[in-house]
Order: sequence, then C-alpha cells, then structure tokens
Amino acid sequence: MENCLFCKIVRKEIPSRTVFEDDAVLAFYDVNPQAPVHILVIPKTHRGGFLEMKEKEDPSLEGYLMSVIRKIAREKGLDQKGFRLVINQGSDGGQTVFHLHYHLLGGRAMAWPPG
Ligand code: 5GP
Ligand code: ZN
Repeated sequence: MENCLFCKIVRKEIPSRTVFEDDAVLAFYDVNPQAPVHILVIPKTHRGGFLEMKEKEDPSLEGYLMSVIRKIAREKGLDQKGFRLVINQGSDGGQTVFHLHYHLLGGRAMAWPPG
C-alpha cells in the first residue's frame, strides 16, 4: 500500500534494522523498544491487521509467520527464559500501525496483566 509505513519499510523507502527477510516475511527491530529485545515480524503483503487476514488465502502465511517467529526467538536466545508475543488490534488493542505485525518481546520479565 502506497502510504503504509510498514509497506515503506518492506520497500526499503524507510530504513530499518533487519533481523530476517525472505520473499514473504520481514522481521526488524522496533524503533522504540519496550524490552531489551523487541522485534516486529510482518507479512510483506499488506494486511491491515489480524482481523484483515484472508480466511481462504492466509492460513499458510500465518503458519509460516509463526515458524519464523519461533526461529528468531531461538536465535535471539529467548527460548531460555521465554518471551511475549503480542498482536495489537484496533484502538482498544493499542494498534498504531495498520499493517499486521507481531511484537516479539523478550530479555526482561513482563508484567501481567498488561497495561
Ligand atoms: P502497534 O502500536 O501498532 O502495535 O505497534 C507499532 C510499532 O511500530 C510500535 O512499537 C512502534 O514503536 C513501531 N514503529 C513505528 N514506526 C516505526 C519505524 O519507522 N520503524 C520501526 N522499526 N518501528 C516503528
Ligand atoms: Zn502495509
């Protein structure tokens, strides 16, 4: 999408610190980290959010995103003490960028419930 921030990051119009990239998925460090490790994992194809994934076409993409997240979590050593995986959806969810992204947060103990 033309004016989507994360599509611009996919197209390298906005720089980011890449963690992982292939044809379908991009993972990069959050510019405003909320934990010592804070990585955003996104599909390269624009989807506005979790609810905007397409029921028929996207299940395999969702599964693939999960397998990439698992790989990154292990590579970053987050399999030792754990991590939190977050999707913010819509205004109550605190979503500010309307391109689906998973927050992978680790390197410190997380509070529960979240604020
Ligand atoms: P949301 O609130 O939509 O779930 O999360 C959006 C995330 O994108 C925030 O954690 C924010 O810090 C991050 N973010 C916003 N703009 C940029 C940017 O230009 N580059 C990177 N790497 N992260 C960004
Ligand atoms: Zn987008």
